[in-house]
Amino acid sequence: MTTQRTEISELGEFGLIDQVTRDMVLHHDETILGIGDDAAIISNDGDATLVSTDLLLEGIHFDLMYHPLKHLGYKAVIVNLSDILAMNAIPKQITVSIAVSNRFSVESIEEIYKGIKLACDTYQVDLVGGDTTASPKGLVISITAIGTQKLEKIVKRSGAKPGDYIYVSGDLGAAYLGLQLLEREKKIYMEHPQLQPQLNENKYLIERILKPEARKDIIRLLAHANVLPTAMIDLSDGLSSDLMHICKQSGTGALLEEDKVPINPEAEQMAIEFHLDPITCALNGGEDYELLFCISPEDRDKIKNLPSFYYIGEMTTADKGIQLRTVHGNLHELKAQGWKHF
Ligand code: ADP
Ligand code: MG
Repeated sequence: MTTQRTEISELGEFGLIDQVTRDMVLHHDETILGIGDDAAIISNDGDATLVSTDLLLEGIHFDLMYHPLKHLGYKAVIVNLSDILAMNAIPKQITVSIAVSNRFSVESIEEIYKGIKLACDTYQVDLVGGDTTASPKGLVISITAIGTQKLEKIVKRSGAKPGDYIYVSGDLGAAYLGLQLLEREKKIYMEHPQLQPQLNENKYLIERILKPEARKDIIRLLAHANVLPTAMIDLSDGLSSDLMHICKQSGTGALLEEDKVPINPEAEQMAIEFHLDPITCALNGGEDYELLFCISPEDRDKIKNLPSFYYIGEMTTADKGIQLRTVHGNLHELKAQGWKHF
């Protein structure tokens, strides 16, 4: 008998998750939603608990050459809170698991926890547990976030309809360009250790990649305006890729307006410096941790004057696919080019 060997790269991240979890069944009625969204939904009499986990690996998700440990602890919490907020829920607790090698001192782990504490205090979440173990080499941080919301207020990826308006909560592509900049400066430093990195002029880009924030303010603004988005996701992989998840799960297409996609001037300038198209960076750069959401046309007036609500296009029927209308009026079909680790 020959055993089959399939390379992970043939399936990709999402194909792999689908394949290994396809035989799983849900045993409890309380499990309202399992795999497939930003967080799982567990119901307890109308109130729901949301759960989401993320794993960060040294060398894959962060590089300690330029990622200060305190910022790393902060960011590790933020990326998890962002997934709970993307369900229109409020994060309340986290657990933190770490694997560390003897390369790290107690003081350096304390630095990570200073960042974790800052995020917990800023976002009002409680650290309630975790696990600690040895690692042969690199640093691994895994965080689980737990949140709550009333069942009827939870927003999934699957509720968007053709004609819904698409919004994003902030400018895009800056984190990706911040990362390109750090990588460039790292390379220069490795070749010429006497040269100090020049990062002062690009504080915004550096902050976007090293110290992102989760958009809890947007969830509050939506609640005050009494608006429930029809679908929502947080932008971790990039606009194209994450919008594709909403479209796939809602059974829709989408039309984005190039001239409406917000890009920070610093990001635009850096893209040009790297000979990249700014809109390509905004569409495909990851890790912005902004919220992408769809709103039914009748709710448009309620959010008209809210800060940080950028209209970027409209949902369409599935047969149209995902298109970008360029500033010149041409239509281009978008392909997801999100982060690919495999
Ligand atoms: P996000 O980018 O929002 O963190 P992911 O793309 O990591 O979400 O994951 C997509 C979905 O697949 C989520 O519902 C997540 O819980 C689930 N998932 C990811 N990896 C696994 C795994 N190894 N086993 C089971 N479910 C997984
Ligand atoms: Mg997410």
